Parts: sequence; structure tokens; C-alpha cells
Amino acid sequence: MCATDIMTLGRIVKFQALLARSLSRTYSAVGIPELTQFRHNVKRSDYANIEDADITVFESIIGKRYTLQEDLQAYNMDFWHSVRGNSKLMLKPGSAEEISAILKHCNERKLAICPQGGNTGVVGGSVPVFDEIILSLGRLNKIQNIDEITGIAACEAGCILENLDNKARELDLVVPLDLGAKSSCHIGGNVSTNAGGLRVVRYGNLHGSVLGLEVVLANGQVLDLMSDFKKDNTGYHLKHLFIGAEGTLGVVTKVTLLCAPAPQAQNLAFLGLPNFDAVLKTFRSAKRNLGEILSACELIDAPTLQASLDHFKLNTPIEGFPFYMLLETSGSNGAHDLEKINHFLELGMEKGEIIDGTVASEARKMQEIWKLRELAPMALGKDGYCFYYDLSLPLRDFYSIVEVLQERVGARATRVTGFGHLGDSNLHLNVSCPAYTDELYHIIEPFIYEYTHKLKGSVSAEHGIGFLKKNYLKYSKSTDAIAMMRDVKHLLDPKGILNPYKVLN
Ligand code: FAD
Repeated sequence: MCATDIMTLGRIVKFQALLARSLSRTYSAVGIPELTQFRHNVKRSDYANIEDADITVFESIIGKRYTLQEDLQAYNMDFWHSVRGNSKLMLKPGSAEEISAILKHCNERKLAICPQGGNTGVVGGSVPVFDEIILSLGRLNKIQNIDEITGIAACEAGCILENLDNKARELDLVVPLDLGAKSSCHIGGNVSTNAGGLRVVRYGNLHGSVLGLEVVLANGQVLDLMSDFKKDNTGYHLKHLFIGAEGTLGVVTKVTLLCAPAPQAQNLAFLGLPNFDAVLKTFRSAKRNLGEILSACELIDAPTLQASLDHFKLNTPIEGFPFYMLLETSGSNGAHDLEKINHFLELGMEKGEIIDGTVASEARKMQEIWKLRELAPMALGKDGYCFYYDLSLPLRDFYSIVEVLQERVGARATRVTGFGHLGDSNLHLNVSCPAYTDELYHIIEPFIYEYTHKLKGSVSAEHGIGFLKKNYLKYSKSTDAIAMMRDVKHLLDPKGILNPYKVLN
């Protein structure tokens, strides 16, 4: 066990450049997927077709410059190259008022719309299935205010998560959300997917930290649900309807979010463990012995780590274990925190639950270790194609599903791996292969969702339902709940123009 001793103020994970380079290589490496409508055999609903007169209306609302009809391939395709639509029109409004006018027109004409943020979503929600108009939120990117006393940040929906976080850090605050896509994803996209990420174990999810929203409804009405208070029990909490609605109930245009005080000291332990039982025991011990300073608790299995090492020039401080855990602490007193960590590690090593590991306290070293985890999804994509699953599972059964799937797909896969947010019972299960095949797809699905259902898990822990999981919603929601979701959808969007073919069948 080696412990680095320099304590830094706050962890600043910045490997944006590496991430961006890896993304562009991923795009060029895997090629263009088949159109979603063919791969998944979907039938277009009876939406109107875009006519010249519609283009004239849109140009009068946002100008010709932001009414784009060419070079839309990148916006028709998701980040992971798993779905591809065929939209011929992308609109880039600059304000909620412009979005309101656009939606009013689309609603009258029954033109379908696909809201798009940073397009980093994993379930095919952010791109059209057919020719839906892509509504890009990218120009609504202003940070309006961050209050250094209360920590309340107000920004437009197209604000990039990392930009908001950087601004918050200038005031010694942090955005209570951190994920590998932070340099591209938007706050509006995060809210619309109820994104989880690496710090849910510490800060909870966005249902807790989003204080208010502004949303444009399908008929163009601008709904003001903005609030600056954590406590506001004045009737129904409508904002929660839009958190995680994936663009099917309204377009989020503004967000107020409660930021947390920036931690004054951070440590990151990267541990090697002999088996999954030791992982569970170490997690339990971390909760008891690190308590309130535990800010991330991630699992990486050996095949995942190997993928990161194979595809990126990364160094791992330890090797040769079936399981690794990343435990991060964020506290206000470095010396006290380190004392707690050392005690926790001693206990784990004495019992043989932790075999080896390293603890970093210096920003650059912590970044290097985080890369092993954060680049894992991209690394698996670089095998050629990757089927990604995002499940909530009871911790006792957390890993058995990976082993079951390894057995089931056998040599057809390059790797079957599991990593994820152990602290939130959220497993990312992945099957990588040289190229997408229908055969492998049908071997994995619906099996994986039926298996999750049997374990009383959730078929989507944090990525949402989007297009790719809508047939499996029934495994995690009752018939009555789905019927009520339909009623809500019908109430807010009676013509179904907002993100059709997503979430609900
Ligand atoms: P998009 O992908 O553009 O859209 C996602 C959905 O939201 C779509 O249905 C879209 O229609 C809708 N939408 C977008 N903006 C709006 C808006 N303003 N109003 C209404 N609807 C809107 N996710 C996690 O939860 N946890 C993780 O740890 C995590 N890690 C990731 C790591 C990497 C490297 C990548 C590439 C992705 C990761 N994701 C993760 C998935 C993704 O980043 C999140 O789902 C993110 O919140 C999506 O934001 P976005 O702006 O890219 O939205």
C-alpha cells in the first residue's frame, strides 16, 4: 500500500482533451449504423411532412442561419453509434420565446420534434427515429447567476455541465453532478435524463438538487416552475414530472440547481480485491468507517480495466485482481480524512478483503486513476461495437448477472464486463464485439431485462428509457403506472409531437 501525502484543494478532473480525441476516433473507427427504422423495424406515425412554408415560418422565428437543412449526419446519430435517424431539419433557437413559437407552429401542423442537448445519451433518446425536426438547445448556454452564499445556480438548459462546474468552483462551490460526458452534456440534458453519475452516493440525484425549471410545453406555453428554495410545499411538485422525462413532456429551457460547498480535501483509493464477497464487505466497511466523507464508490472488474489499458495509454497502479474499487473521499480536513482512510484500509487488509491498493491525494494522480474508470465505456466501444446496459440490482446479485451473460454469449463477444456505481447499486453491464450483429442482439435482449426483472432490479438505473429500452419499460413499471404515464403524456402533449417513439410505445 503506498500513500501519497500532498493534499490539494478540491479535485479538478480534466481530461477533456483526451476524451474529445477519443470520441472522434470512436466515430471514425466504428462507421455509420443502419437507420433505426430498419434495424428495429419501426413504422412512422402520421406526423405531417415538412413543407417549404414551414421552413419559411422557422426562418422568420430564428433566422436562416439557425435553420439548418444540410450536414445533419452527426446530429442524426447518437454518440455510441447505436441509432440513426433521418432528419432533414435542425433548428437552433436562442431563447425560450423562440422555442415557444417553434413548438406552437409544430403543434398546429403536427410536426414531430426531437429535443437534443449534448447528444451524449445512451438510450437513443436524443436523435430522431425518422424525420423528426431536431431542436438543438446548444445556443441557450448562458449561466445567469451563481449565489455564493446559498449556492444556488441559475442557467439556461444548453449550458455545458463542465462550464457550470468551472464557474461554481470559482466561488468555492461544486455542481452536485459529475459524469464522464461532462465536457459535452448539457444541464438541460442532465435534467431530462435525471443523470446520476459518480457522486450520487454523496449528493443524491437531481430530484433533490434541482430547485426550479422553466419548460416550454408542446403547445408553446412557457411554464415557469423556477424556484430558489429547497423548501417549497405549495401544491403539486410539477418540476419532478420533467426531471427524467427525456424530452417527451416539454422542452427544459432554464434550471436552478443547488450547488454544494467545494470539498477542501480529497483522497482517492484504488483497491484490488480477491472476490465479489470482499467487494461487498469493503463497501459496507467504507460506509461505516468513512461515513459522510465518502463521495464516490465505483467498481471495475478485470475485463473492464483491461479494455481501458488496451485502448488508451493508461497506467494502472495495481494489476492482477478480479475486482477493483475506487473510493473517493471529500471532506473539510485533509489530516482527519486521511486518518479515517488509513484506519479503513488497515481493517480491510487485516481481514484479507483488500489485498493491495494505492491512495492518491494529489490532483494529477487522482485524475490518472479516475481515467481508468471514466474512459471504460469508450474503451469498450473501441472493440468495435458495444451493447451497453445500465441496471439497478440488489447488491447480493450485483455481479452474478455478468457471469451469467459471459456464459450465455460465449466466444461471440470480445468482452463481457461489469463496472459502475456500486454505491448506488447501479451496474453498467457491457458486451463488446467486433461489429453489431442481430444474432448477438437477440441473444442478449430480452434475456437481460427478463433476468433483471426476476431479480426485482430496474432496467434503467440512470440512462433512461429513450428509444432503445421502451419495449422493456414493462419490466420495471406496473401496467397501472404505465397507463398513468400515458395519461400525463396525453395531457401535456395531446398530439404526441415531443420526442415520439421514445419512452412509451
Ligand atoms: P442528450 O443526449 O442530448 O439527450 C438526452 C435526452 O434528453 C433525450 O431524450 C433528449 O431528447 C432529451 N433532452 C436533452 N435536452 C433537453 C432539454 N433541454 N429539454 C427536454 N429534453 C431534452 N449518464 C449518467 O446518468 N451517468 C453517468 O455516469 C454517465 N456517464 C457517461 C459517460 C460518457 C462518456 C458518456 C458519453 C455518457 C454518459 N452518460 C451518463 C450519459 C449521458 O451523458 C447523460 O444521459 C446526459 O445527462 C445526457 O445529456 P445530454 O445533454 O447529452 O442530452
